[in-house]
Amino acid sequence: MEFVYIIRFGEIWIKGKNRRFFEKALEQNIRRTLKRAGRNARLESERGRLYVLESSETPGETPALLSRIPGIVSVAVGVRCEKSVKSLAENGLALMQTMGVVPVSFKVESKRADKTFPIPSPQLSREVAEYLLTHGLDVPVDVHHPEMVFGVEIQQQGAYAFCRTLRGAGGLPTGVSGKVAVLLSGGIDSPVAGYRMQKRGATVEPVYFHGFPFTSDMVKDKVARLAEKLAFYQESMTLHIVNFTPVLTALKQHCPERFTIIVMRRFMIRIAAEIAKKSGCRALVTGDNLGQVASQTLDNLECVTDVSPMMILRPLLSFDKFDIIEQARKIGTYEISIEPHEDCCALFVPKFPEIYGKLEEARGAETEMDIDGLVAECTAMVEQVNF
Ligand code: ATP
Ligand code: MG
Repeated sequence: MEFVYIIRFGEIWIKGKNRRFFEKALEQNIRRTLKRAGRNARLESERGRLYVLESSETPGETPALLSRIPGIVSVAVGVRCEKSVKSLAENGLALMQTMGVVPVSFKVESKRADKTFPIPSPQLSREVAEYLLTHGLDVPVDVHHPEMVFGVEIQQQGAYAFCRTLRGAGGLPTGVSGKVAVLLSGGIDSPVAGYRMQKRGATVEPVYFHGFPFTSDMVKDKVARLAEKLAFYQESMTLHIVNFTPVLTALKQHCPERFTIIVMRRFMIRIAAEIAKKSGCRALVTGDNLGQVASQTLDNLECVTDVSPMMILRPLLSFDKFDIIEQARKIGTYEISIEPHEDCCALFVPKFPEIYGKLEEARGAETEMDIDGLVAECTAMVEQVNF
């Protein structure tokens, strides 16, 4: 059977003259995702809709795959029909049978974009419903709480019947908002922070600070798998793995213990900014979440922001942990993030970390360290993994 996946992309409509640019990006992302998944499908567009056509025995994973692409509001599973009540109803019944859809109640919803089609939407819904009822769909109509919405759309180039609609990821197509560097640790938060930026159209370039032998090489592999999850959403991605050992060693030797976390973060920001500049990124992104841990008070965030030559974006700042975990589960990073590992930060957490770091003190805590030298050394030792 030839299935048609009807794609709606609400928010892109708002963008006025940029609309075509946004639509093009979305089309590209859809094509790439289908190709990578080995789906043999083609894409058509018509005024505010995209249609993916695929011949197969069942829809399989294609609708779910499409629903994960940022910018898509919903994906309806349907078939293309002739512009007649009979064709819409009969093809719709065949679709339901193929998909094994057996509703307990239903309702028909029609949309008539092609105004040359003579039957107005309310009447079309009634006529299609009547046809369905007399040709095998032996369940009650429930206009308020139907278990299944049988959708009918009359467009210029064709008519469509659909019987199941998946909610899409929403947001904007990845790639329309420029590039940002995400400080990606092996934790739960930073992959979600990266995804939130992708969902607002940004392309991300992850930077991970690796502190071997303080951190085992297993973490590198873990972070690479997290980066790979985010790579799903964009054309290509480069993960930068920074050898952070020189900074960690210097911290142990020269930094007052209660300031180690703050100063460590200040170095991460400085080095990440160097990498970001070189790769054309416009901002840094972290998984910081206000008050979540001692290092994420306003005072400490201020101490870290102090050294940044570019914007630091913190998309999760106001989220509840519960919501972050839910999102991590959805994008498939949660299971990877909770694998046990020794974060270099975890090893360096002092007994009594500074919770309300004062800017002057934070600056003072690193005076014994060769800041420029360390930044240059680490920036020169970056391993790149391409996805
Ligand atoms: P996450 O779950 O993202 O690790 P967290 O709640 O554990 O966050 P911290 O460990 O305090 O918070 O880190 C705050 C942020 O600093 C992280 O979200 C991440 O953006 C960045 N970060 C921390 N450690 C690293 C690292 N080793 N490499 C890259 N970025 C890091
Ligand atoms: Mg962490």
